[in-house]
Amino acid sequence: MTPSGDAYPIDLHTHSLRSDGAYAPGELVRMAAARGVRIQALADHDTLAGVAEAVATGQETGVRVIPATELNTESEWGDVHVLGYFLDPADAVLGERLRWLREDRGRRVELMVEKLGALGYPVRLERVMEIAQGGALGRPHLAQALLEAGHVPSYDAAFETLLSKDSPAYVARVGLTPLEAVRLVRAHGGVPALAHPGTVALELEKVLPELVDAGLAGIECYYGSHSVDATVRYLALAARYGLVPTGGSDFHGRGEHGAPLGGVRVPAASIDALDALRASDARVSAYHVEPLGRAR
Ligand SMILES: [Zn+2]
Ligand SMILES: [Zn+2]
Repeated sequence: MTPSGDAYPIDLHTHSLRSDGAYAPGELVRMAAARGVRIQALADHDTLAGVAEAVATGQETGVRVIPATELNTESEWGDVHVLGYFLDPADAVLGERLRWLREDRGRRVELMVEKLGALGYPVRLERVMEIAQGGALGRPHLAQALLEAGHVPSYDAAFETLLSKDSPAYVARVGLTPLEAVRLVRAHGGVPALAHPGTVALELEKVLPELVDAGLAGIECYYGSHSVDATVRYLALAARYGLVPTGGSDFHGRGEHGAPLGGVRVPAASIDALDALRASDARVSAYHVEPLGRAR
């Protein structure tokens, strides 16, 4: 039994204020600890900036914090998000790549601020950046700014009417393809896993072979919004392609996205398998980094 009675000890997918979560990294780990979480991956989008704070708090509170990031990708494959586990926050070359991705997000948010202004919903870019508190700028911060400015009745309404794909202020991102994201994680000694596979638009049987060839090592089978049938199907795919079944809450802290902290059961065998991969695959040199920076 956990202190709160409704959380599990392993959560391999959480977000802090360093990207689009609501809580500072240390606060997030403290909350997880209070709920009985003992192993937690901090997987902020395109950044490892919160890892040091999370690890320090983890040492105080008895939580093993796994450094991670979640890379959004751009392709015809739908929403393909790649989790990279065991990446090193001190890896300067990786830090530079991630900075490039965040700046791309920043440029996109700037363009969306311009569009919003032209549409009669002015928000200040400076305010949006304040809301992000130095983390990876994104649409959630824009939604918050729109709400504060009184342009929308709720955070969700900002997305529904202005920010979602096909909405008037939407600007598409440029960035990594799914295969580039997997290779980037591998090239920096990390273990890449496909996040919430239900958001992939194509049949997984079509994309998994390519992702596995590129170095994919895990697939997020255990996830709050997965039905039992979906979980069973993803576990079968994990077995078929030799992938570690990972899982987590995708907790952001605003209630509208993800499960509660520790709210998804992840078996201990998953973390053992990830640890084993980390030991055997660290700094695999066979996977080289593709040049980045080309807009698609
Ligand atoms: Zn995601
Ligand atoms: Zn996530």
